Amino acid sequence: MNIYDMTYNDLIMYFKNINLKPYRAKQLYDWLYVKRIKSFREITNIKKEIIEKLEIDFYFDNISIVKKESDVLVNKYLLKLSDENTIEAVLMEHDYGNSLCISSEVGCNMGCKFCESGRIKKIRDVTAGEMIEEILAIENDLKIRISHIVIMGIGEPFDNYKNICNFIEIVNNSNGINIGSRHITISTCGIVPKIYEFSDFPYQVNLAISLHAPNDNLRNTLMPINKVYNLKKLMDAIDYYISKTNRRVTFEYIMLDKINDTHECAIELSKLLKGKNCYVNLIPYNETNNLGYKRSSKENILKFYDTLKKNNIAVTIRREFGGKISAACGQLKTMKEDA
Ligand code: SAH
Repeated sequence: MNIYDMTYNDLIMYFKNINLKPYRAKQLYDWLYVKRIKSFREITNIKKEIIEKLEIDFYFDNISIVKKESDVLVNKYLLKLSDENTIEAVLMEHDYGNSLCISSEVGCNMGCKFCESGRIKKIRDVTAGEMIEEILAIENDLKIRISHIVIMGIGEPFDNYKNICNFIEIVNNSNGINIGSRHITISTCGIVPKIYEFSDFPYQVNLAISLHAPNDNLRNTLMPINKVYNLKKLMDAIDYYISKTNRRVTFEYIMLDKINDTHECAIELSKLLKGKNCYVNLIPYNETNNLGYKRSSKENILKFYDTLKKNNIAVTIRREFGGKISAACGQLKTMKEDA
């Protein structure tokens, strides 16, 4: 088993089964995530017999950097997993810290019409350990510490639920990487049963919903998931989530020229979200060569923003990163495959 797949509690259980005390888990997490060893042989405070047992039971999986593109304040990576599959991760330097956007699946089955990742069908889940390695590889490459995680790269995190929960548990553990749960954001296209399940998740992680349309007719044309879980079902689930967690939800709304950026859409969106504990993040669309959608003009984005504001909806416009380096979800991977 990949050692990075082990939660802290898994390790306590593992050591317990071989009659070792729980503090061994703390020691091992320290070697893995503070000292960053690459082999069990580097450990100096655990007996040789135990090291040998660890070597039999676990391996150090190693993801590698295949390609890196850099721009001001952004580094985009194509990473190779141990079975040769590739995924993407994007590091953005904000004034509040370094935020890493990680992939949760190899490919994606959600098929959103505007998204490059949807062109690559899902091949498999990314494991919790591999998500941890995305962090370790990039911290090592840039010699930095990551303070924020957004699960907004390739894949639908709620289509890989168990691994995502384990990942959050591992990354959040104070003996290890220790990224605060409030610094972690999960973005979903709206897998309703998992939103209900996530309402009971014991970590205070941020939830973002890819909304992109204020009514079913339009959302059906952009996001096939809406035909399974329509807006009524989605909003009911979100209301439940907010009532259970008392947390504010983010709605992501990509601005697509003449598709979802009209005044009528802004009014309809305001009505849909009225009174909810939420805010809207307007995202200037990153155009891709393959999908034919255009980005809304600056003027239309600002008008849309104003309409929401006037209707008392909290709203921000996402700062742009990496337009020059094709940093939109899935673009680096599909460019490599088209080339
Ligand atoms: N499957 C999850 C997370 C991955 S997509 C989800 O749907 O939320 C992360 C975000 O990037 C989503 O809001 C998605 O709609 C958006 N996105 C996809 N392609 C984009 C593009 N070309 N430009 C801007 N945002 C894009």
